[in-house]
Amino acid sequence: MDCIFCKIVKGEIPSNKIYEDEHVMAFHDIQPAAPVHALIIPKKHIATMNDAGEEDWKVIGDIHRAAQHIAKELGVAETGYRLVNNCGKDAGQVVFHIHYHLLGGKKLGLTH
Ligand code: C5P
Repeated sequence: MDCIFCKIVKGEIPSNKIYEDEHVMAFHDIQPAAPVHALIIPKKHIATMNDAGEEDWKVIGDIHRAAQHIAKELGVAETGYRLVNNCGKDAGQVVFHIHYHLLGGKKLGLTH
C-alpha cells in the first residue's frame, strides 16, 4: 500500500520518533505549525476517522493515552496543548492514514 505513514511505521521512511508501543507511534511533524508539533498515529492503516470500525475504538483511546504521555515528555502538559484530527478534504487532511496533531508550546490561535 502506498501510504507514507505506513512506510514510517515499517521504518521504510525515516521519522523523528517520540513514542512507540504495540499499536501506536508518534513522531515530530516535518513541517511544525507550533514549537511542539507531534503526530500520533495508529500502526494499523485506517484512512480517516470515518473509516474507523468498532474494532478500532481501542486504538483511538490508546492514541489519547499516548498524547497524555507525550505532552508530559515534551513539556506542554501544564501549559496546555491541542489534539487535532483532520477528517477529509475540507478539514485539510492530506495524509489519508488517521493521525492526531499534538500542538503546543505557544498560545494557540483558533486555527492552530
Ligand atoms: O492533517 P493533515 O493530513 O493535513 O496533516 C498531515 C501532516 O503530516 C502535515 O502536518 C505534514 O507536515 C505531516 N507529514 C510529516 N511527515 C511526512 C509527511 C507528512 O510529518 N513524511
